[in-house]
Amino acid sequence: MAVLPIVIGENEPVLRKKTATVPKVTKEILRLLKDMDETVRNAEGAGIAAPQIGQSLRMCIALINGRYTPLINPEIIWRSEETDSMEEGCLSLPKVWLPIVRPVGITLRYTDAKGTEQERKLENFNARVVQHELDHLDGILIVDYPQQKPDASHKEHAKM
Ligand SMILES: [Zn+2]
Repeated sequence: MAVLPIVIGENEPVLRKKTATVPKVTKEILRLLKDMDETVRNAEGAGIAAPQIGQSLRMCIALINGRYTPLINPEIIWRSEETDSMEEGCLSLPKVWLPIVRPVGITLRYTDAKGTEQERKLENFNARVVQHELDHLDGILIVDYPQQKPDASHKEHAKM
């Protein structure tokens, strides 16, 4: 296992392209997920996506209910109409903090590390982290969102 270097910079090509579907949960994929797990813990992030460690693959790790959860080929199959705003940071954009408006609730479908398909309904912070990571899988960064006024309510924020 290893802590991997994190790709930094909003114009890095690997952070800007759509990732490829993971065809099969191989030993190689599991090793990469272990390294991503170690990397996100080391960086004290709430999540990390494969492009952030230079791999253009459709997988990420997201902090869900306090647990770092590997998500392979994740997709959001439902989004709530209700939205809220929270300041987000990104491990690939040091010192950038931006309030981002996102749906409060989502339904997520993904393959777990055992290769089993899962479906979960997520809300609030859990849903936010997953949406941030899925943006990474499509080459989208927080700087791409329309600028919002900073939220005076000082909600919890996190790097991901
Ligand atoms: Zn990020």
